[in-house]
Amino acid sequence: MTGAIFSMAVNVGIALLFAGSFAALALVFRAQRQALWFALAYSVGALTPLSEILVRLTPYTTLFSATSYATSLAAMLLIGHAFARFCGVATTRGIPLTIFVTGLALRAAIWGGERDSMPYELFFQLPLALACAWTVVVMTRVPRPAPLYRFVAGYFVLMSAFFIAKAFLAVAFGSGPTAKAYAGSTYALISQAGGAVMMLGVGLLILLVLVKDVTDRSRGEAETDALTGIANRRGFDRRAEQALKRAADEGQPLSIALFDLDHFKAINDAHGHDVGDEVIAAFAAILKRAAPSSALIARTGGEEFAILVEQTTAEPCRLSAEAIRLAVLTEREGGSPIISVSGGVAEFRPGETLAELVRRADQQLYRAKGAGRNLVYRAMS
Ligand code: GH3
Ligand code: MG
Ligand code: MG
Repeated sequence: MTGAIFSMAVNVGIALLFAGSFAALALVFRAQRQALWFALAYSVGALTPLSEILVRLTPYTTLFSATSYATSLAAMLLIGHAFARFCGVATTRGIPLTIFVTGLALRAAIWGGERDSMPYELFFQLPLALACAWTVVVMTRVPRPAPLYRFVAGYFVLMSAFFIAKAFLAVAFGSGPTAKAYAGSTYALISQAGGAVMMLGVGLLILLVLVKDVTDRSRGEAETDALTGIANRRGFDRRAEQALKRAADEGQPLSIALFDLDHFKAINDAHGHDVGDEVIAAFAAILKRAAPSSALIARTGGEEFAILVEQTTAEPCRLSAEAIRLAVLTEREGGSPIISVSGGVAEFRPGETLAELVRRADQQLYRAKGAGRNLVYRAMS
């Protein structure tokens, strides 16, 4: 077995191992079903080195040369498609299909052409480079792209460049006079080794994307209140800390309002705990509706809630809290047993901690309770 055939066989194994890992992840984590597309891409990709081995070892040179090219192009495009599906990018199928069909047509057009000539090698590599560029386009369209997605886009820019570079390398080193001779050429070794590194790199990046998705999802669950679907205390604290840091860095105002339902124990006692839960959910729905759309809203305790509004001073925040208090009264007229809500508002003072800010808002809430409830009080800054 020549070195190139040996590395082709290794590539088949690597591609199948990745395909198996992606499929296993997709089946274990239901939310990651879309990872099956990555498994499909790598399964198709495994056919490329396999076809190249069969070109060398069987008489069906034309068939397996064609399969080798078609599967490598299809695998590349499937990876772009898999990223699009996984990251929720709406794409048309037209672009990858056009690249695929045009690529095969180009390959057919140069069939039997003069290998190692620049036009032949360029036409050979161009569709593969375009397929990588397609993934770059997909990754730049991901809504709110994480740095990891930008890194994936950068990696595919490099891959695209690698395919173009391969055309020059083929001309420089010679890819063998025939498809059969290719496997024995120095260029085949470079191409297979380069291909292996790319396949490993992309496979590891995909695994990173999948792992990041799992951790993002579990953090989202850990920071969400199951009853109301809004942030819980943990989620509020983490995001509020980030918001305070932004406000301090940018010298922008930031305010919070704390709420506590009035005489809530009486609702539990009179109607039962389940109705109490419904009231809590109803108040969360009011917050979602009546709080400023940019506000961070959270259920910070049993029947205690908070909203945090960035770039907002205490007075507009108090008005928002007041609107929420009034919305509760309107809701009560709709037949819900929510009685009323009290609120306390405070504006961030540069240098203070989140705990200090919350304590000042809480003092105002306490004052509102003391003054008879169904009131919103604001700390003077
Ligand atoms: P106040 O006007 O002074 O706030 O009176 P309150 O009765 O609301 O007093 P407080 O805020 O101290 O009481 C909160 C009560 O909320 C205590 C607890 O029984 C109830 N509670 C806490 N979490 C839940 C929950 O998840 N579901 C239900 N149904 N009740 C809860
Ligand atoms: Mg309370
Ligand atoms: Mg209460």
